[in-house]
Amino acid sequence: MTDLKTLTEVPNQSPPYAEVDLFGGDRALQEAVIGNGAAAEVPALGAFGRRWGSAAMFEMARLANEYPPRLKIFDAKGRRSDTVEFHPAYHHFMTESISAGLHASTWQPDATRAGAPAEVARAARFYMVAQVENGHMCPVTMTRAAVAGFGGEASLVKMLMPKLSSRHYDPMLRPWREKIGITLGMGMTEKQGGTDVRSNTTRAEPDGDAHRITGHKWFMSAPMSDAFLVLAQAPGGLTCFFLPRFAPDGRVNALHFQRLKDKLGNRSNASSEVEFDNAYALRIGEEGAGLRTILPMVQLTRLDCAISSAGMMRAAAAMAIHHCRHRSVFGKPLTEQPMMRMVLADMALEVEGALAAVMRLCRSFDLASSSPTEAARARLLTPAIKYAVCKGAPALVYEAMECLGGNGYVEELSMARLYREAPVNAIWEGSGNVMGLDVLRAASREPDAARATVAELAREAKALPGAAEAANSIVETLTGEDSEARARAAVERLAQLAAAAALAAGPAGQVAAAYARTRLHDGRLGATYGTARLDPAEISLLLNRILPAA
Ligand SMILES: Cc1cc2nc3c(=O)[nH]c(=O)nc-3n(C[C@H](O)[C@H](O)[C@H](O)COP(=O)(O)OP(=O)(O)OC[C@H]3O[C@@H](n4cnc5c(N)ncnc54)[C@H](O)[C@@H]3O)c2cc1C
Repeated sequence: MTDLKTLTEVPNQSPPYAEVDLFGGDRALQEAVIGNGAAAEVPALGAFGRRWGSAAMFEMARLANEYPPRLKIFDAKGRRSDTVEFHPAYHHFMTESISAGLHASTWQPDATRAGAPAEVARAARFYMVAQVENGHMCPVTMTRAAVAGFGGEASLVKMLMPKLSSRHYDPMLRPWREKIGITLGMGMTEKQGGTDVRSNTTRAEPDGDAHRITGHKWFMSAPMSDAFLVLAQAPGGLTCFFLPRFAPDGRVNALHFQRLKDKLGNRSNASSEVEFDNAYALRIGEEGAGLRTILPMVQLTRLDCAISSAGMMRAAAAMAIHHCRHRSVFGKPLTEQPMMRMVLADMALEVEGALAAVMRLCRSFDLASSSPTEAARARLLTPAIKYAVCKGAPALVYEAMECLGGNGYVEELSMARLYREAPVNAIWEGSGNVMGLDVLRAASREPDAARATVAELAREAKALPGAAEAANSIVETLTGEDSEARARAAVERLAQLAAAAALAAGPAGQVAAAYARTRLHDGRLGATYGTARLDPAEISLLLNRILPAA
């Protein structure tokens, strides 16, 4: 006869990874916030971390992805509707992130004061959000980055900023002028080219003060945004436009959604295919200067990709450590098994490097307007860090999944969702090779500034093993023969050197030394996690820093 107790009691399974303190339980994050000038934010970040780490938030994240958005092209009577229906959990996350200012905090007057740690403070929040729900971060990041594209359009800025900087999320389909708060999307990619947007065929015809846009976009995420920045060919060449959901006469603008993408991950976010049929739009920037106009905004979306990938890495590594602390195999917790300890610590070290690199990069963004050195640093390192961190995330999440054994492969835990989510940050906003080309472009256009940035990183990391050699090989590759074919290795090394330099500036000297030894000096001894050379003291330190034992 079956003993009922054996069915209802579940020994040796880890408790849910929920009610986690995403800030108070993350030493590395606290140090990065303080070290990069945002110490005053610590109490607010503590509250934010507890709120976002609650069991209710994790459950909402599951629901937002379990019930993905649906496109309603027509209404019940056959009229065009072109709306997208989301689960309430998605709106919950939009409300939370917008009320926290993640879409706009860096544009507030006190945030744009030279040296104010606005990017660092926002990045800390973004990093925590990425550990819970990722899909809604797409419209949040696009809304905040789009503002950088407005550049000199003073009248547009005056009209839009009060609504863009509002902390009120309004998901209703109505003209942006009637709303308190609005969100923005972006339409650049067409069927024949995403990287090469110069191949865009969408046309823009002048119509009085405005333009009429006709053509298509093959990817346009967050289609329920209140307006979009789109690229189209005007008579004078590729140009950026502000295309609202409603035309000024109050009618729905001529955007016709074709379908939503059936995506590997990022399922709570809707990504549409869309056609424009003589849609009303306003020009942004000079005619023919479309690429120049979108460049500052692309820098910001790339930065966000790196921050959120670092956050996903932390989530995966912390979940793995949590599980292994509670799971015994052959009579001993997995966290006491030498090979597993090495795997977990190696992952934790990778998270430390990714976090340190992105937070120091955010500091450069904060300082860029008052320091040419920091501006040059941000220019060279943004594509390098986007490349390395976004490409590193899927491999780390995969390893973390395996630490959970079979449970890791099952949809009910969020690890499977993270695994499907992780690759997208490397693809959009400039894929891997495109980031390599961008680093090369920065190095060839401003060679002295690029050399100075690498030299500064080497100086900051000078006490660490492998730093000087890494700096030499980066400069040699980026400026040498055949640099395009060899760029990937140099770009990866540049990001690692930036991570080592950022760790060296922090209080955790042992972590900095371990990172530099295993990444810059030794190189990985094998291709997988757990092959680095870490000593027992380093392993204990790393495990406790990433997720303190309860
Ligand atoms: C979920 C999702 C949502 C998206 N949302 C949006 C959106 O809202 N708005 C929008 O505009 N776009 C969006 N995109 C599109 C995305 O930005 C593009 O897919 C991306 O920029 C790559 O463009 P592509 O798909 O045309 O690939 P391609 O440009 O064809 O690139 C294919 C590959 O070639 C590589 N490559 C390109 N040029 C070179 C070169 N010179 N040398 C070596 N390698 C090279 C690239 O790195 C890439 O690996 C979204 C994509 C996804 C997956």
